[in-house]
Amino acid sequence: MHTVFATGRTRPAAWRRAQLRALRAFLVDHQSEISDALHADLGKSPLESYLTELGFVVNEIDHTLRHLNRWMRPRRVGVPLSLAPARARTVREPLGTVLIISPWNYPLQLALGPLVGALAAGNCAVVKPSELAPATSALLARRLPRVLDPEAVAVVEGGVPETTALLEQRFDHVFYTGNGAVGRIVMTAAARHLTPVTLELGGKSPAVVEPGADLATAARRIAWGKFMNAGQTCVAPDYVLAVGDAADEIEGHLAAAVREMYGERPAESADYGRIVNERHFDRLTGLLGDGRTVVGGEHDRAARFIAPTVLADVSPESAVMREEIFGPVLPIVRVPDLDAAISFITGRDKPLAVYAFVGSARSKRRLEAETSSGALAFGVPNAHVTVPGLPFGGVGESGVGRYHGAHSVDTFSHTKAVLDKPLLLDPLRVAYPPFTQVKERI
Ligand code: NAD
Repeated sequence: MHTVFATGRTRPAAWRRAQLRALRAFLVDHQSEISDALHADLGKSPLESYLTELGFVVNEIDHTLRHLNRWMRPRRVGVPLSLAPARARTVREPLGTVLIISPWNYPLQLALGPLVGALAAGNCAVVKPSELAPATSALLARRLPRVLDPEAVAVVEGGVPETTALLEQRFDHVFYTGNGAVGRIVMTAAARHLTPVTLELGGKSPAVVEPGADLATAARRIAWGKFMNAGQTCVAPDYVLAVGDAADEIEGHLAAAVREMYGERPAESADYGRIVNERHFDRLTGLLGDGRTVVGGEHDRAARFIAPTVLADVSPESAVMREEIFGPVLPIVRVPDLDAAISFITGRDKPLAVYAFVGSARSKRRLEAETSSGALAFGVPNAHVTVPGLPFGGVGESGVGRYHGAHSVDTFSHTKAVLDKPLLLDPLRVAYPPFTQVKERI
């Protein structure tokens, strides 16, 4: 693949556009095949699959096709007078061959979203889908080589041994989405080749709720963001951080929201997903004993079903608050005031997102200025990922680097500095040695 890149074939805008259009056509033409694979892996409903996976990538492609010419244009940069006459600009060049390692929770979006950026920037790419979403992985391996330039894009299926073997090779960028422990393995392997990495990781994203905010609406939106894909969403609110009386008020609203969305028996709802495998099922059911169950708690191992569950009066020291939950369990932790909420957040790893449902502009300003996270969203969880102009990525433990739209093209390009000074005049002569004349004047 390095040799294909070296021919220059992937550089022209026409090649990049053709790949993106072909990928778009595949997504649109094979909707039901894709939807079936996502249902087999995660029990996703067709509408949820469309909104969060397939449609998401289609939107990303459309946005990229619309703006790619502008993003590819060289940018003029000012030159200091001492160098005049001269012109300076930056140009973007593709990095080469990139490796994309994706996880199981949005197995289509998180493999193809980065691929859109890699192709738009003119790279060759190897995609390694997650072995924990085998139907989607097989579909990508079967279809992509037929849809895209097969010498420039490859899909390698497999788990730890195959990924380890890939990481031994030299790539020009490694883009990894998944957990932080493997993120460290990826970064260590990449360091051997001095290969830059993007690490899209997770963390415990809080949803701060304050008295005085519309908590019925807040609860509906938190429940929507949390229980989508049965809680297996990297940007989902991990826990509710309730200020004072908001703790008592929000629990009833959350229970009502869950019943409104998934009915009295969520196991029978066609709109509710399943846990990816038994290992995650066992890990999650081990967390159900923390706190007081407000709604949910039912589970069925054979069906990998865990009901949308809200836990109140949860201690910050309990197991459910020690690691990223990544499932349909929503603890409510009570703090006395906004100061305590801010200290709670800043005292822990920087999350992928902070969500806040607060009553005043002052609270918003304080959260923006005093907390650090990949993203901050007021009034709605998860939705910032759909704003194409916003960078998506973490900070600290939640990740390294960013992508989406122009930020993807940035990630998968090298911004090269170009200086062009005519040979015609040579005022630079004053700077050449010997320096005797200059020295005499100083
Ligand atoms: P996973 O188990 O599918 O692993 C991700 C990828 O890493 C897979 O392709 C897998 O084959 C590979 N892998 C696993 N172990 C490896 C090893 N020892 N060496 C090399 N490669 C290895 O997915 P996961 O990590 O369980 O995903 C869930 C995590 O990902 C959560 O923490 C979640 O928050 C995070 N996540 C982040 C984002 C984001 O965009 N920031 C998106 C989705 C998930």
